[in-house]
Amino acid sequence: MPSPNPLVRDRDVAFLLYEVHRAERLCTLPAFAHHDRETFDLYLASAAKLARERFFPTFKAMDEHGAKLVDGRVENAPGTAELYDAAVELGLLTATRSESVGGAQLPEAISVVAFLYLMAGNAGMVGYPLLTSGAAHLIESFGDDALKATFMRRMYEGEWTGTMSLTEPGAGSSLSDITSSATAIEDPEGSPFAGAYKIRGSKIFISGGDLDFRDNVVHLTLARRVGDPAGSKGISLFVVPRLRPKTGPSASEDAEPELEFNDVHTSQLIHKIGWKGLPSLGLSYGENDDCVGWILGEPGHGLRYMFQMMNEARISVGANGTATASAAYHESLAYARVRTQGRALDRAKAKARGASGPVPIIEHPDVRRMLLRQKAIVEGSMSLVIATAGYADLAGHAEGPDERQRAQSILDILTPITKSFPAERGFESTSLALQIHGGYGYSSEYLPELWMREQRLNSIHEGTTTIHGLDLLGRKVVAGGGRALSLLAEELRADVEDARRCGVDDELCEAVKLEIVRVTELTMVLGTRGMSGDVTGMMAHSADYLTLFSNLIVAWQWLRMAGAACRGLGGDIDGESTEYYRGKLEAARYWIRTELADNVRLAALCESGEDSYLKVPDGGW
Ligand SMILES: Cc1cc2nc3c(=O)[nH]c(=O)nc-3n(C[C@H](O)[C@H](O)[C@H](O)COP(=O)(O)OP(=O)(O)OC[C@H]3O[C@@H](n4cnc5c(N)ncnc54)[C@H](O)[C@@H]3O)c2cc1C
Repeated sequence: MPSPNPLVRDRDVAFLLYEVHRAERLCTLPAFAHHDRETFDLYLASAAKLARERFFPTFKAMDEHGAKLVDGRVENAPGTAELYDAAVELGLLTATRSESVGGAQLPEAISVVAFLYLMAGNAGMVGYPLLTSGAAHLIESFGDDALKATFMRRMYEGEWTGTMSLTEPGAGSSLSDITSSATAIEDPEGSPFAGAYKIRGSKIFISGGDLDFRDNVVHLTLARRVGDPAGSKGISLFVVPRLRPKTGPSASEDAEPELEFNDVHTSQLIHKIGWKGLPSLGLSYGENDDCVGWILGEPGHGLRYMFQMMNEARISVGANGTATASAAYHESLAYARVRTQGRALDRAKAKARGASGPVPIIEHPDVRRMLLRQKAIVEGSMSLVIATAGYADLAGHAEGPDERQRAQSILDILTPITKSFPAERGFESTSLALQIHGGYGYSSEYLPELWMREQRLNSIHEGTTTIHGLDLLGRKVVAGGGRALSLLAEELRADVEDARRCGVDDELCEAVKLEIVRVTELTMVLGTRGMSGDVTGMMAHSADYLTLFSNLIVAWQWLRMAGAACRGLGGDIDGESTEYYRGKLEAARYWIRTELADNVRLAALCESGEDSYLKVPDGGW
């Protein structure tokens, strides 16, 4: 029997956090000074235990049962309540929040690893705490005292949950087209809701939009105040609970509000192909003209505020893609070790070591190719996710404003890559896990098909891959005359030299160095083309550009891992560790020689502006 799936390997976590990314260095920042490696590891060990002992064992059953819509209310899959309680008890809702709001004030780089474990165990189930925490954080950042005391506090404490309520049937990728409306409540007779708004509209795909295991859910909702302009400048953000306090929000923490229905209806349960533990719903606001919402912050800044939650969620989606691919990788690795089939390619060698019969499929070169590709994608993604979260920590907490700004610029550029690479390549990787299982992989008795269904979502929600390609090339790399790109290139160059000093093969270091130049030059060519008015010529291959850029960024991560592996190999280590580090070096070599090498073709394609698909006439499809 294969050993139980570790979901995410503890050794990889320790390697990445402490040998590659030096996470302890974050403890030199005042915000994290109360932490050390021990507190990090304690938290992560609890998350790993919860993932392996509670989340993963419920994963398949939750997929089979799903949530149901009964008389307009959601009935969650069995076990959801207990798992949510366990997530709250672990401190997942407030892990990174400040002590002033009851948080543990952990770095994002640590928190995201806890999420990796749990997402690998049961991704959909992690949606509830993630959404609640992100929604509460919005209220923390932009709400007044009454909204914080009434809503944020209860959400952080696990009493109420939260959602992000953005998408509408007519406004998905293009949120600036939302039509949900907000009408100011002007009640001269002293209504408790004076100053708030009546909300009307329909939302779709709202994950966690209703539930049966908590009394209330608070929707962070985008809507347009009546009379405000069309487009993103007219969008505001509202706090719209399913149940509202009868007397309105109160700044008193002692107040125990009496609640009444707030005219938010569940109109539809989306029948999804995965993530069935987390229902995604159609919501209808104000069918009876009695839905009250409280505006968050300033009118017209809603989309800007919402980007706080969306950007956090984008890193989480990257973590999700990584986690799902990781669980699938470990499953296929274990399977490949025990499944015997066929004879060794080199029969003479096999005979010499007395193996003349069927061999474990891990011995077949092409199975090894698939496994190494998975490993390179999974561990490259994991390193990328941790690196990006680390920049978020520096952007929020580095000591000087310059350092914070520098980290923010790099974070901005890495976010679309961290969101989309683990989703896109994670899907390929998960598909390879199915392939390694052969015909058994194509059956629901085995898990890879379920992970493939789960993984597929990551390229769609929080902005499709297409949208992130447009964002990267159209905004991020050209912003400020390419300043963020230069800062990022500086980091890459420094790490190339560090890898060289550690003893990483010159060939690999040079290959990455060359690609930094190629990507920078290509960006200049495309940017110049756009500035001269040929926007289509610039953007036609934005998706290919995203792939090319991501290949380089992941090569950077592999070079960092290779450097750490060389350092490790130079120490006094046992045979197991030697093999572990050698595996890293081979995966780095694989990524740089095989996947990064594709950048030559991709760069030529982006630069050529090849436009066959733009030219297909309507009747030509
Ligand atoms: C399971 C699930 C959970 C979700 N959870 C939530 C949630 O909790 N809250 C929430 O608010 N939303 C949620 N969403 C919505 C999700 O964010 C949207 O589905 C996504 O943003 C895409 O919007 P759309 O579905 O309307 O597709 P569309 O925007 O119609 O896109 C269709 C296709 O056209 C492409 N396209 C669109 N615009 C352009 C363009 N300008 N240029 C090039 N190509 C373009 C897209 O890339 C895509 O391939 C969820 C969705 C799913 C499936």
